[in-house]
Amino acid sequence: MIVWAGVALVDGAAIADFAVCVRDGLIVAAGPRHQIEAQYPNDERSGGSELLMLPGLVNAHDHGRALGTQSLGISDTFLELWLRRLESEPLLSPELAAAWEGLQLIRSGVTATAHSHNPQTWQSQFDELPHTLRGYRAAGVRVALHPVIIDQNPLVYADAEAFLRSLPSSLVAAAQQALRAPLLHADDYFNGLDALYAEHHDAVAHRVHVQASPAGGQWCSDDLILRAVDWARARRTRVQMHMLETRYQRAYAFTIWGVGFVRHLDEIGALGDWLTLAHMVWVEPDDPTLLSERRVGVAHNPSSNLRLRSGTAPLAHLLQVGLRTGIGMDGQTLDDDQDYLRELRLAWTLANQPAMASADVSASAIWQCGTRGGASVTFGDSVPLGQLQPGYLADLVLLDAAALRGAWSPSGHPTPELWPDFALRRASRQHVRHVMVHGEWLLRDGLHTRLDEAELAAAIRAELAAHLSRPVQDDPLAAHLRRFYAVWDEGGRRDLVSK
Ligand SMILES: [Zn+2]
Repeated sequence: MIVWAGVALVDGAAIADFAVCVRDGLIVAAGPRHQIEAQYPNDERSGGSELLMLPGLVNAHDHGRALGTQSLGISDTFLELWLRRLESEPLLSPELAAAWEGLQLIRSGVTATAHSHNPQTWQSQFDELPHTLRGYRAAGVRVALHPVIIDQNPLVYADAEAFLRSLPSSLVAAAQQALRAPLLHADDYFNGLDALYAEHHDAVAHRVHVQASPAGGQWCSDDLILRAVDWARARRTRVQMHMLETRYQRAYAFTIWGVGFVRHLDEIGALGDWLTLAHMVWVEPDDPTLLSERRVGVAHNPSSNLRLRSGTAPLAHLLQVGLRTGIGMDGQTLDDDQDYLRELRLAWTLANQPAMASADVSASAIWQCGTRGGASVTFGDSVPLGQLQPGYLADLVLLDAAALRGAWSPSGHPTPELWPDFALRRASRQHVRHVMVHGEWLLRDGLHTRLDEAELAAAIRAELAAHLSRPVQDDPLAAHLRRFYAVWDEGGRRDLVSK
């Protein structure tokens, strides 16, 4: 099959009248339309002059919650307080959640996603995940699956005793209960990972990759992180962790080790091309260079970092040193709607800082993060994903270029060299017309070819209605958690550095 478009973004640059030839899920030829059509005269043709072709977009860090957290009744606040709210999130059936998530991603032009699992309970995680995978498979989106584990600091970072002492006696029992919540034993986690990997990891068609995910630096011991690294390296798969999302996580590292997280992870040998770190807002000035030398990947999450009051990651600096970087929505886009194109726009806008001396981040660089960069940090460099090149997996997106251009737009506007900026400034999910994954059309004229959106929506509504009858409880510990961490704002944890 030949797929063609009036303009395509190839490696972040616009090319007019571009075509690819697709066979058995792979791109076998790519180039000027007349050339490809001459080369494959008998192939079925699909496309149009008023379409803009992109490689499939890669959502480099997310949680597959089906709906945005606000839609699920969880209002935004600081991450450390919000995670407690998230415990009252109405959890949908795993297969339904993943099918709806996958459908929304495809409609957003996302053909591959990273799914960091929020289990209903730690103990049920590995029972849920096969259903999650079934949902994603039904939607047709590729997935890098991250079963998660933590083994420390479930309620507060570092000093739980000090937190308990700060509480009125009426709340101590509630806090102790949160501190003693049963976690997953590491042996059970790695046994569960082994079983999932054996059954589902697909190193040929790359529909599913099973990866390890110690959830975050402050929540995981060094032993656990290193065990995850060994597990992943032995299987040529990857590790993804949340890292340096908030200033309190940065303060935690200095409190425990007297150095930043990145330096510490390097000292224990955890950094390498197998690792992807999500968020990375509170990096030290020399962290990006070290991470680049170690070939570590970063998943940048601009909306989530704003909504959970974490801050703004130094994307310009990360890209300037050549760090492998993808962009992920973290289930927390600005409009609570998993609009990946708008997420790219936000990343671009925030990256260009109000200082003449700062580096510029181009639209092309952001398109690269959303495609080949995301593929690199989510599936690894050995997987041929994220480019419109021969030998690559046939994942592509066609946007409605006429709608993007607007009714006022004279023909020929914008000129090809302006398309990367023009499309990044204007495109949103409503412009996504057709989406192909692995050579199969999954979206045609804005409609999913396999799933009935209305039917799925009705199922989501029915499940949610049962949950919403239970009012969301206020967290009695929230004000105390906030006071506990507020002390850290003044560098109050540095006193423990000698530990
Ligand atoms: Zn996350």
